[in-house]
Amino acid sequence: MEKYKELLKSRLKEKRYYHSLCVADEAKRLALKYGADPDKMYLAGLLHDITKNISDDEQLQTFKKFDIMLSVTEKASPLIWHAMSGALVVEHELGIDDEDIISSIRYHTTGKADMTLCQKIIFVADLTSADRSYPDIEEIRAAANRDLDECIIGILKFTIKDIVSKNKPLHPDTLDAYNYLITERKEVENNGNL
Ligand code: FE
Ligand code: FE
Repeated sequence: MEKYKELLKSRLKEKRYYHSLCVADEAKRLALKYGADPDKMYLAGLLHDITKNISDDEQLQTFKKFDIMLSVTEKASPLIWHAMSGALVVEHELGIDDEDIISSIRYHTTGKADMTLCQKIIFVADLTSADRSYPDIEEIRAAANRDLDECIIGILKFTIKDIVSKNKPLHPDTLDAYNYLITERKEVENNGNL
């Protein structure tokens, strides 16, 4: 773990490094609460933004190196590039072969349909970590302690409204994540009523 911290320190700005430590702590806490592997989630949280501070050019070079073709939406959404390149770097450069860690990093900004527990934990921890402050944070933190799916639905609603209101492109994975959770919850609720 110490060697990863040293590596991150050399790659990230101070504020981003601190954020990574906070997300790691929060991911471990959520893992213990919801029954995931706490050490694994700590490491995923620690590394989730590993390529956040590289230039757009370097991001694009990374995709080229690994033959990743960006969709039109992805090309127009540089903010999600670090999730895609981070997963590549963690797998191929750091040699971490744990699919939970790799995919949690891959989907930490967009989300996706049918997320695993590990993916949900990193998605949520990124927004409930101790360094975060935004208007509805206490509500989101309370939801994270009640029900991860409810928390993610809240985050996705905010994200989708925000992206659309700014005329920015919405990644299909984000919409899929929302549709999946809304439909799945409805089904569970309906079955419960039968
Ligand atoms: Fe990120
Ligand atoms: Fe982050």
